[in-house]
Amino acid sequence: MKMEEIKILKPCPFCGGKAEISVSDDEGNHRNEEYENDPWSGLSFKIQHDHESNKGCPIANFEEDGGTVGVYLYDSREEAIEAWNKRL
Ligand SMILES: [Zn+2]
Repeated sequence: MKMEEIKILKPCPFCGGKAEISVSDDEGNHRNEEYENDPWSGLSFKIQHDHESNKGCPIANFEEDGGTVGVYLYDSREEAIEAWNKRL
């Protein structure tokens, strides 16, 4: 049986902290994981790396911004992961 290839987010190049994928709609509004099963307003993914748990990181965002890095929306988890990993 072939193992499914699982791509993971590398640690942040600036602070070594953890980054996570968050689910959102096409307009970048944060949604919970369940939304993925019924994406009635479009489905996008964002990289989340918040200031709260990564203090002092130059690219981390504050919680009031949703804790996401930049405004980039990706069509799939893989795309988001690749984009994050590529910039290291
Ligand atoms: Zn960081």
